[in-house]
Amino acid sequence: MHGTDVTAVFDLPDEAATQRLGADLAQALQPGLVIYLDGDLGAGKTTLARALIRALGHSGPVKSPTYALVEVYVVSSLYLYHFDFYRFESPEEFLDAGFGEYFNEASVCLVEWPDKAAGCVPSSDLRIRLQHAGDGRIAELAANSERGASCVRTIASIRAAGNSCATPEPR
Ligand code: ADP
Ligand code: MG
Repeated sequence: MHGTDVTAVFDLPDEAATQRLGADLAQALQPGLVIYLDGDLGAGKTTLARALIRALGHSGPVKSPTYALVEVYVVSSLYLYHFDFYRFESPEEFLDAGFGEYFNEASVCLVEWPDKAAGCVPSSDLRIRLQHAGDGRIAELAANSERGASCVRTIASIRAAGNSCATPEPR
């Protein structure tokens, strides 16, 4: 799928800022969205996903899917699948695991390490790249579809209006 020109960059000076972005993203979700989370180990992908899932109303633990490969949540009448393909040795493991059926119009999929399933995992509507920047992080959002573009515009307007979510309760 072709990229759109809709992008946004946010400074995340501390963990709370990453959590706010996750909560803002929760307000911009729509069913069917596929979101890739890129970045090195420790960049904050799971931190962002955890804040998003909490902001949707999930009150239990939000584990990193590093070992289970996927964690499933049913929140705010959405099926949310949080994947982590870090441990894949080949992209075909995605097909062997039968994960394809999780990507449908009723679900939202968050995918850490999508490149480990390249060619097998469905393409993204939105790619979020987290990078270290000094002691903090920078998040770059790039939309790859109209649905992704609408998500980026919503987040940008939430933040421009100063309505960014309050920091979630500490876990
Ligand atoms: P990943 O899933 O990308 O491997 P994690 O979310 O598991 O990364 O870990 C990220 C680490 O960085 C956590 O220790 C978290 O507290 C910290 N962190 C997250 N966001 C920021 C930020 N904006 N600035 C500084 N530290 C952050
Ligand atoms: Mg992680």
